[in-house]
Amino acid sequence: MPYSSTFPPLDIPETVDLWTLLFGDRPRDFPPTKEILTCAETGRTYTWAELRGVSIEFGKGLKEQWRWRKGDVLAFYTPNSIDTPILTLGALWAGGTVSPANPLYTADELAFQLRDACAKALVTQVANLPAAISAAQRVNLPLDRILLLGAHHDPANRVRHFTSLITPRNTTGTSQAAATLDPKRDLAFLVYSSGTTGLPKGVCLTHHNMVSNLLQASYVEGSQWRARRGADGRGDKQLGILPFFHIFGLTAGVLLSVHEGWQLVVLERFDMARALRAIERYGITFAYVPPPVVLAFGKKRPGGAAKGSHLGSLKALHSGAAPLTRELTEAVWNTWKVPVKQGYGLSETCAFVCCQVVDEWAKFMGSVGKLMPNMEARIVGEDGRDVEEGEAGELWLKGPNVFPGYFNNPERTKEAFSPDGYFKTGDVFRRDKRGNFYCVDRIKELIKYNGYPVPPAELEGILLGNKEVADACVIGVEDQANATEVPRAYVVLRGGVEASEAKAQELVVWVAAQVAPHKRLRGGIRFVDQVPKLPSGKVLRRIMREQAKKEQRDA
Ligand code: AMP
Repeated sequence: MPYSSTFPPLDIPETVDLWTLLFGDRPRDFPPTKEILTCAETGRTYTWAELRGVSIEFGKGLKEQWRWRKGDVLAFYTPNSIDTPILTLGALWAGGTVSPANPLYTADELAFQLRDACAKALVTQVANLPAAISAAQRVNLPLDRILLLGAHHDPANRVRHFTSLITPRNTTGTSQAAATLDPKRDLAFLVYSSGTTGLPKGVCLTHHNMVSNLLQASYVEGSQWRARRGADGRGDKQLGILPFFHIFGLTAGVLLSVHEGWQLVVLERFDMARALRAIERYGITFAYVPPPVVLAFGKKRPGGAAKGSHLGSLKALHSGAAPLTRELTEAVWNTWKVPVKQGYGLSETCAFVCCQVVDEWAKFMGSVGKLMPNMEARIVGEDGRDVEEGEAGELWLKGPNVFPGYFNNPERTKEAFSPDGYFKTGDVFRRDKRGNFYCVDRIKELIKYNGYPVPPAELEGILLGNKEVADACVIGVEDQANATEVPRAYVVLRGGVEASEAKAQELVVWVAAQVAPHKRLRGGIRFVDQVPKLPSGKVLRRIMREQAKKEQRDA
């Protein structure tokens, strides 16, 4: 029997696109002058009205100067900045699709995404410009289609600053109105995930998917903050730690803040000292974070600061993107008396699938909370049947926020869904009688380092490109001290190559030179005689994972 959400069903409109939901004509209980995006370091701010206005101007620039058409893809390759949402929303206004990439990607990794997503233009910052240019050249993207963010200009004048698309000329012409879209078909975002297996794939997220997830999250998250803060409830301030290129940061960070009228105080990157400074300076009330950030909060408080002093404004943290242990939750409570609640989601579901409400964080510690409104879930055993209540099985999902498929990839799309239309998450769950869900394991290949996805197949492909490597299998192993998994490779060397600590180190360094930092083989390399495989050639990672657990127990 499928489980339906225990929240009442919401009336989710099917004809509203994301721009219209965020900026269209609906009653709001915050004024247009409400500050929405603030840079933690400089204090530079966009109010809701400025965000709307500048986004439209940028969207007009795209349409009038670049003849931007519905579905054209604007890629992003930049650390968090308060200008990123302007360009994201402007592209949506113009009918475009946004495809964000990790700013730490190598030129090769970026080129893969630009090519696969058929990107028409790329947004970046000066520090990322060499890799951006190199990737653009590889996929024949003209350099005048690279736009710079930030205070700096390209000294060699090869690329344009994004403000050059915002000109008074844009205020005339036919492109005054937002693009007309079919929210159930047209894509708002093309984010990249390896899904349950293989290389990264473009996850198609329609406007309707995104509108649905924002309304679902608004109901569960928005209403609980409102409930905790009385009728106006709009004084909430979120610390923007999550990267905007990842679905969690995009939906929970940027879009939900615009929808709810929260102030998002943006940190370019996380470090504890900056986070504490920003919490104190801006009176931050909550933050969405991955488990390693929870770990940082759980460590000894600096300078013996007392509760009620500078962290007094922080009401809760919400952890997602990777498993959170009870110990970490308790450590934060013991250090700061701040509750840590948890949620669960995937790129394929626009982020939110399950969410704890803050008042239940201690009662159901370890749970990722209840299923979002309008969703259905099945927990399925290996025989494809629903397991008994309380038992563990693979989580399958249906709902308006579930993606329609992978971009230009019908084969992987077919594999991702059951015959009756459920998306198969590759995560193992159980559910208790009260409707709380618990994520207990992962059967898909994916590894998560600090919340960032690492596709093992990609690392195996790189290792197999080394002339001394005959075979390789990459898995995630637990790194408890840092509250994360780390990728480890089991490698079969070619005949005549000697297995040694030095050889392992050499291969680790060799891989590191070709991948973004989060994909480095921090779990090391172990040499083996063979990689266990099915006759079909499919690597049996499960066996290697069990071996790794045994090694960890024996160590
Ligand atoms: P991504 O598409 O990068 O958001 O990764 C989605 C995957 O992250 C899920 O399929 C899970 O394996 C993992 N994940 C997300 N949230 C949690 C959580 N609260 N606990 C355990 N794993 C999680």
